[in-house]
Amino acid sequence: MSRILFATSEAYPLIKTGGLADVAGSLPRALRSLKQDIRLILPAYPEARKRMGKCKTIAEFELDDHSIKLLQGRLPGSRVTTWLIDATFFDRPGNPYMNEEGQIWPDNAERFALFSKAICHIAMDRIGLGWQADLVHCNDWQTALVPALLDQEPQRPATLFTVHNLAYQGLFDYDTFVKLRLPAHLWQYEALEFYNQLSFIKGGLVFADSISTVSPSYAEEIQRPEFGYGLDGLLRRRQQQLSGILNGIDVDEWNPGTDPRLVQNYNRRSLAKKAVNKIALQNYFKLPEKPETLLFGFIGRLVEQKGLDDILASLPGMLEMPVQFVFLGSGQHEYEQGLRKLANQHPNKIAVQIGYSEELSHRIEAGTDAFLMPSTFEPCGLNQLYSLRYGTLPVVRKVGGLSDTVQDITPKNLDNDRATGIVFAGTTGDGLPEALLRTQQLYQNKTRWKQVQLAAMRQDFSWQRSAQTYLELYKTSLERNPKPLN
Ligand code: ADP
Repeated sequence: MSRILFATSEAYPLIKTGGLADVAGSLPRALRSLKQDIRLILPAYPEARKRMGKCKTIAEFELDDHSIKLLQGRLPGSRVTTWLIDATFFDRPGNPYMNEEGQIWPDNAERFALFSKAICHIAMDRIGLGWQADLVHCNDWQTALVPALLDQEPQRPATLFTVHNLAYQGLFDYDTFVKLRLPAHLWQYEALEFYNQLSFIKGGLVFADSISTVSPSYAEEIQRPEFGYGLDGLLRRRQQQLSGILNGIDVDEWNPGTDPRLVQNYNRRSLAKKAVNKIALQNYFKLPEKPETLLFGFIGRLVEQKGLDDILASLPGMLEMPVQFVFLGSGQHEYEQGLRKLANQHPNKIAVQIGYSEELSHRIEAGTDAFLMPSTFEPCGLNQLYSLRYGTLPVVRKVGGLSDTVQDITPKNLDNDRATGIVFAGTTGDGLPEALLRTQQLYQNKTRWKQVQLAAMRQDFSWQRSAQTYLELYKTSLERNPKPLN
């Protein structure tokens, strides 16, 4: 049994802005059931604190002139011990990274540097808990300074850094580096400096004993200039320590057979009942109630990564056909406006809800026939996994985790009963329209469509297998640590 400190800036159901929260909310649970002594640590945002319910202060300490309390509770719905770092920096409304108007907090560097320093303090057992981590598992740039800081110690826990999305790196200017009181020698390109900026993510990429990403394909892609943001050279250098482990999903939370948010539960044997959810969704979105019309869904952040340019360009050409689209998301203003405009122009075919709704996201997964996910890059992607489980065929670009998890409806895959969705390649504009057309053609053939739905629903993306792979990676990381604790 190892003592693992799992560090993250968000974890479902305490606080969530994206896929990282889903992973941080379910992987520690799976690891705990594999008998690991795991502690989840995140900042004590007011919402997280509220949702955690009962908790107690187990330590108080000072760091960089900040008073910090360490609160201990349980991740709701689990037995995972959860630690919240309580400091004034985190006592704010809004989400972990921005205020209620959607503006990034200007002091995020200071906030997450303090969080990272607190993690190191705790991992080294400098606050008298009598619990010293064997390994710290860091996730994304907000915790990426941890491996760099721990590396300054003569003896330290092993470190694993997981990249959930290389596009977010935590880049700040030199003055910020000085303000953060980081060791001066870390300002060099073999450390935290990146083209004259401070790069948080380099702390993880340079110093962690192991690096992982959330799918095997993404682990390959980020070593290429097209996906590497200038970090591909560094990643190629660390190729031996870099691997990709596919995310799992919480199969209890996302189960069409028991999901309490659905109007009608269904499973593989009662697939016909899925149609009840479709009618309910058409009613909810005020679209004409048409059981036979192919209904596409989209849920996600409205940002370039999610393929919004292709979607906005392809939609008008599709509207000659008997199709409908529902969108749930929020993000960049121009995409929100673009979708709203199309919905206003075609109220019988396109409906949009701007915002975030956990409940509606489940109802879209259940009520639609096909799910649009033409991301330009996708480290793993979760919505296509939820879609597969709900018998909603994902339409995806062949990138990252999407290509690792969806099998295209090629004649061969159909004959072998392996096809689970519609996959298109390339970055040119015609990929998505062609994929939508192929979806429409398949939909005409009810027997084939059902065959693919059943194959999709048979896929197993539960955490069991991935958690086991993480465990092996923890072991390897402990062996790689050049300065192990006694
Ligand atoms: P990313 O982490 O890049 O945002 P993922 O597909 O990995 O993308 O995970 C996104 C997660 O956030 C999924 O659980 C998805 O259902 C959820 N999500 C994104 N936008 C919304 C929204 N507007 N309402 C509800 N859930 C959302």
